[in-house]
Amino acid sequence: MESLQKTLPEYFQRAGWTVEKVLPFTNSVMFEVKKGFLEKATIHFQGAPQDLTLEVDGSGEAMDVAEAALTDSCDNPAALVGYKEQKKIEQQEVVKNIVGMFGPHAQAASAQPMTVEKEVVMIPCKYCGALMDDTATVCPNCGAKRTL
Ligand SMILES: [Zn+2]
Repeated sequence: MESLQKTLPEYFQRAGWTVEKVLPFTNSVMFEVKKGFLEKATIHFQGAPQDLTLEVDGSGEAMDVAEAALTDSCDNPAALVGYKEQKKIEQQEVVKNIVGMFGPHAQAASAQPMTVEKEVVMIPCKYCGALMDDTATVCPNCGAKRTL
């Protein structure tokens, strides 16, 4: 934790960021960083080195810098990588579920018990991609008429 309080600002400075504020709390630290006039981010991390949570509010580049600092100063970088991999797997699962609902395996669902029919089926809008209720006639996001 203490090492990260030093490491994180160093990483940001090396990447061309200015550390505006460091706010240490009992079990967490918050940093406010900025780059140029436009890019700004708030980094908040907490927990023990084995169980860190990192939140980055703002630029995606700030997230990368914060992650690099974390990985390098973490006592157990493997755990952190594991956490990141887990996030990736979760995202893939979501994609798989969507493919499963609308893709070639859609028939498999109809072979299941009757309760399946009562579930609200969400379909993606052809224009904006927002998910909408199967019974909706227009997209609640963009207002386009449903064509499926
Ligand atoms: Zn739409």
